Amino acid sequence: MAPKQKKPVKGFSEQAAIGGKFGQFLRILCGCHAIPGRSFHFCGRPFPICARCTGELAGVLIGIPTMIVLGIPRFWVAVLMMLPLIVDGTVQRLTPYESTNIRRLATGILFGIALVFGFLYFHQVCVLAAREILKLLGLDPFAVNQAMQRFLP
Ligand SMILES: [Zn+2]
Repeated sequence: MAPKQKKPVKGFSEQAAIGGKFGQFLRILCGCHAIPGRSFHFCGRPFPICARCTGELAGVLIGIPTMIVLGIPRFWVAVLMMLPLIVDGTVQRLTPYESTNIRRLATGILFGIALVFGFLYFHQVCVLAAREILKLLGLDPFAVNQAMQRFLP
């Protein structure tokens, strides 16, 4: 079977988009379609990633200091922050509804902030799992608890 050809993005041109190689890196990192009609423009040239991915990236950058200053919210808060993007994207995908770039940006920012929290929840689950595995392997439960406590909030 021949390798699957990458489908070109309609209307997207690597030369036209701003950012050069870094923009190309961002597009690959985000897995972005980079459709110019769904991207912001600067001086008539499209961003290398769409408005939603721009928001997600901004959200991650906002989420890290937010987490440091305010701590980690409850899990359901992060889920609620992700819902607007999921609903907006799903409705757009399944119906003729077309979102706006401002709405894509806003839902992307909320999602990006929640993504930072999601990584921290995942980290905590991994630490808790490692703690239980070490106990199952016969290590001193008190020593394991003490060692793992430094990785938990
Ligand atoms: Zn995108």
